[in-house]
Amino acid sequence: MPREILKYPHPVLAQRAKEITEITPELRKLAEEMAEAMYAKRGIGLAAPQVGECCRLIAVDVSGPDERTDLKFFVNPVIVSKEGQVTDEEGCLSVVNFRAKVTRAEKVKVKAKDLDGNEVEVDADGILAVCLQHEIDHLDGVLFIDHISRLKRALYDGKIKKWQKSGKQA
Ligand SMILES: [Zn+2]
Repeated sequence: MPREILKYPHPVLAQRAKEITEITPELRKLAEEMAEAMYAKRGIGLAAPQVGECCRLIAVDVSGPDERTDLKFFVNPVIVSKEGQVTDEEGCLSVVNFRAKVTRAEKVKVKAKDLDGNEVEVDADGILAVCLQHEIDHLDGVLFIDHISRLKRALYDGKIKKWQKSGKQA
């Protein structure tokens, strides 16, 4: 069974995740489990807090959800530069039944470590740039719904409350 993905408004999703100080076998196992959970739900990115682990690790595979040929993990990823602006529709495995347009940088440069502890630097654009910004946001306790208008957010929060009351929260 893949690990369960926490859903908004779970409090862990709003926390700042901790820096990873050492790459351990446990961390590599967590990375594998994150990929498994991401693919099981047909996602293209997942951050460790979404499976309840508050550390700065993300998984992305923008070839997905069908291809699964470009899986990458980033440890302690940091956006070091941003360029341009793009607005695209986003969804999130932790935000059920909702998609919305979000404006982000069009290109980003990200520095991180890989699971062997090597420094990596990625110049991303297109869907990878959007995905990296979305996942790195998760590490700071930020969801894409924190970027939408107050009105849209209030409507979504209202729906969530209704689902919770009726016990239908997915
Ligand atoms: Zn997400």
